[in-house]
Amino acid sequence: MTLEGKVAIVTGAGQGIGQTTALRFARDGARVAVVEINEETGQSTTQEIERQGGKSLFVRADVSDHADAGRMVQTVHEHFGRIDVLINNAGILRDAQLHKMDEADFDAVINVNLKGTFNCTQAVAPIMREQGSGSIVNAASVVGLHGNFGQTNYVASKAGVIGMAKTWAKELGRKGVRVNAVAPGFIGTEMIENMPEKIINQMQSQVPMGRLGEPEEVAAVYAFLASDEASYINGSVISVDGGVVV
Ligand code: NAD
Repeated sequence: MTLEGKVAIVTGAGQGIGQTTALRFARDGARVAVVEINEETGQSTTQEIERQGGKSLFVRADVSDHADAGRMVQTVHEHFGRIDVLINNAGILRDAQLHKMDEADFDAVINVNLKGTFNCTQAVAPIMREQGSGSIVNAASVVGLHGNFGQTNYVASKAGVIGMAKTWAKELGRKGVRVNAVAPGFIGTEMIENMPEKIINQMQSQVPMGRLGEPEEVAAVYAFLASDEASYINGSVISVDGGVVV
């Protein structure tokens, strides 16, 4: 499995699954655009890729801003001359039960997770259509398939990115562009590690494998879907969850 010769955009690549994915892609031979709203963490991922001998470009962007996402894609295209892979990974949480959820928290999560995925994909799609090839992957979640207590906004966004992946698979498939979604379960990143210990223990106990997943285990699936090995996989949702919902 190789990403030699490919140019990949990974959004939210300053930490967590996005950072691990960016580093993995660079090791597999891709030139990687690290897209982050946080300048410091984004720069540090880029520097780490270059320190390991890879090629990378940092672009600061807020994916929820349509114009910013468009400018980001244009910058990457001008710099590398092509775009083969888009991993729509940037995401946030603002959890509360329905009766306590602020409108602002609903909007914030929808704007980053759902609209951000739309913004980046809409900007990248004409370039991939023109090339006649490309792979786009949306970061969904196991909760986007099954719902979750206290996550109205997040679940709506993750169910939405699954629906958009299936729609774009139909719209872009004949142009040689594949679109899929990955649904991670509980992965050990800051997003999870900031939760109370009791909740983390509860999560682990629900997983048949008895442990949280590692960011590398999600990055490996992104690398597969980005590669030509996945050349006939389109419109799929691949769960990476240790069997939590079997
Ligand atoms: P994380 O919070 O560790 O990292 C998310 C990154 O996205 C951060 O670096 C953040 O600065 C960046 N970001 C946030 N808003 C942005 C914006 N508007 N524009 C650009 N960048 C922005 O999260 P993670 O745990 O690594 O999760 C990555 C993705 O995987 C998310 O979409 C998340 O919903 C999804 N996911 C995570 C888990 C898990 O258990 N960790 C499970 C299922 C799905």
